Amino acid sequence: MGGQTYDHEYRNYVDSERQQTVSKLYYLNHTKQTLDFVLEQKRICAARLARGDYKLTLWEAMKQLDTLVDDSDPDIDAAQTVHAFQTAEAIRAVHPDNEWLQLVGLLHDMGKMLCFLPDQKLEQWAVVGDTFPVGCKHDSAIVFAEHFAENPDTKDQKLNSEYGIYEPNCGFDNVHFSYGHDEYFYQVLVHNKSTLPQEALNIVRYHSFYPWHNKGAYKHLENEHDRKYLDWILEFNKFDLYSKRPELPAMEELVAYYDGLMNKYFPTKELMW
Ligand code: FE
Ligand code: FE
Repeated sequence: MGGQTYDHEYRNYVDSERQQTVSKLYYLNHTKQTLDFVLEQKRICAARLARGDYKLTLWEAMKQLDTLVDDSDPDIDAAQTVHAFQTAEAIRAVHPDNEWLQLVGLLHDMGKMLCFLPDQKLEQWAVVGDTFPVGCKHDSAIVFAEHFAENPDTKDQKLNSEYGIYEPNCGFDNVHFSYGHDEYFYQVLVHNKSTLPQEALNIVRYHSFYPWHNKGAYKHLENEHDRKYLDWILEFNKFDLYSKRPELPAMEELVAYYDGLMNKYFPTKELMW
C-alpha cells in the first residue's frame, strides 16, 4: 500500500474487466430480491441465531472467507481476507487511535459467511453487492436499475409506490433491505452482544446502501438516527473502496494486533452465526 498512487477507476459498472460477472450478479440480485424473499431469509437467520447451534470464532470464519471472491466487485478479484486486512490497515494508518473503526474495517464484510452456512447457504446474488429497500419503488440511482424489470415486486402496485409499505421518514431500521451481508452481520453483532459502538453497527448495517449514502436517494425514508451516523458511513466508505490494491498486506503479522481488538469488543471468542 504506502503512498504510491494506483491508476484504477473504482465502481466502473460499464466496461471494467469484470463487467460480465458483475452484470450477471446484479441481474440475478435485482430479479430475485423480493420482499417475500427477504422476510424468509430474515426468519431463517433469526431462528438459527436463537437456537445458537452454529458457532465459529471470527478467525475460523475469516479462514472460510479466504476462499471467496466477490462477484459484485468491478474493482478487484482478490479473496475477501485480503480486502478485510487492506481496509483495516488503511483505517489504522489514518485513525491510529480509533480501535473500533479499525476493527469494523476488518470485520465489515464477515456477513459474506452467508455463502457457507449449513442451513442458509446462499448464492452470491443474495449476499453481496449494493443494497436497496424492498417493499417500495426501486430508485433509478441503484446500479443496473434496468434489471428490475423482471422482479415480481415491480408489477405489484402496493410495493411499487414511492413509500410502498412504509411511513414517511420511518428510519432505515424499520425498512426491509435486499438481503445480504450487511443485515446479516449486523444481526450477528447484536445477537453476540458485541460492545462495538452504535457508529460501528450503522456502518456494518448500511455500508452497501450506496443509493442513499453515495447518491442521496431514499431521503424520504431516512430519520434523524440515520442522518446522525451518515458521516461515519462516508468516512468508512473511503477506506472500504480506496484501499483496494492488487498487492497483499502481510496478514500473518497483523493477526495478533486484531485479535487484541476482537477481545475488547466481543465477550466471547466463539460467536453464534
Ligand atoms: Fe461489504
Ligand atoms: Fe468491503
